[in-house]
Amino acid sequence: MNAPLPALPSLPALQALTVAELAERIGGGGAAAAAAAARELAAATLRALYLDGAPTIDAMRSLGAARRARLAEVVSFPRLERIAAEPSADGSTRFAFRLHDGALIESVLLPHHAGSQRYTVCVSSQAGCAQACRFCATGKLGLARSLAAWEIVDQVAQVTAHAGVRASDLVFMGMGEPLANEAAVYQAAAVMTQSHGLQIGARRITISTAGVVPAIDRFVAAARPYRLVFSLGSAVAEKRLRLMPIQESFGFDALLESIAAYARLRRGKHVTLEYVAIRDFTMGDDDVAALADLAARARFRFLLNVIPFNPVGDEFAAPTMAEVRAWTAKLRPLGFPVKLRFSGGRDRNAGCGQLGTALLADPQRRSATRRGR
Ligand code: SAH
Repeated sequence: MNAPLPALPSLPALQALTVAELAERIGGGGAAAAAAAARELAAATLRALYLDGAPTIDAMRSLGAARRARLAEVVSFPRLERIAAEPSADGSTRFAFRLHDGALIESVLLPHHAGSQRYTVCVSSQAGCAQACRFCATGKLGLARSLAAWEIVDQVAQVTAHAGVRASDLVFMGMGEPLANEAAVYQAAAVMTQSHGLQIGARRITISTAGVVPAIDRFVAAARPYRLVFSLGSAVAEKRLRLMPIQESFGFDALLESIAAYARLRRGKHVTLEYVAIRDFTMGDDDVAALADLAARARFRFLLNVIPFNPVGDEFAAPTMAEVRAWTAKLRPLGFPVKLRFSGGRDRNAGCGQLGTALLADPQRRSATRRGR
């Protein structure tokens, strides 16, 4: 933010384009042979970018000089600046990137289990977040801005290239509220699911939302193929309101209506609700009763994904493993499935809800990482 930033070129970013969109830009004047050549170059370019991990257009040696020159005329290839890649003891790796305007974002690479060759990438959809959930580190930052589609796709391209792996799954559970940045999130998803490049299955893209009701309704109306999961926070409306200010805009009942519509889109399959287990706040008998009531009145079936609170600030306390197990045991008789999730990367403050403060608040460590590149 001190030195003047290089201006972004005005050509569209390569990472924001599907193979068809790129082929159209490469063009060729409508003749069938030229159109086929454009499509072939587009596909080869995306292979070089996403499968070979080429860092620049110049590095796409497989294309040949003339085709690289043509490419550089019609697209730009901006990259996020990677400023940290920190492995955790549990096998996950936390990445931090600097955007062209200086804002910082984070992504996490998570093996499905220790030693697994299957990976999930957790991406950010915004720099910071406007939702201000009280239990979330990103919520304490406020919103800097929403990300462009290429900035979402580039997180996945860089994380997988750096680790030398491919991602089978993608979750929008990093910084930001994805449904407050719909256009970029859906364009990024379109790029990442196409058969050229990252090739992530649409059903393997999970969008987690704090509950932006109109955006959920638009998702349902458009019958988008991705998976939505919903951050419940708490099932007691007053507690949810205290934890998640978004409830001032969209009430609990309206949210339940929209989730029911989403469940119908998924033909009645279980919907995942994410529940943050906070000691002395969301782990009481009243919370058990509220969940029983929710199960009785909700017009959809749900699975409760219980995430033990990862320490953020000093307003709330993290429960012990034993406390979480004892509390979730009380939910077993209620008739809905319960899954306990211990989020990866906790030893690096890269667990759910912890993205956004450690790296930002520690300039010394940040500059050490930069020197070490
Ligand atoms: N804005 C989106 C996605 C980011 S949060 C959303 O709200 O869903 C991703 C998940 O992490 C949410 O389910 C959220 O409830 C959970 N989470 C946030 N802070 C947490 C914390 N400190 N400990 C445990 N889980 C947390």
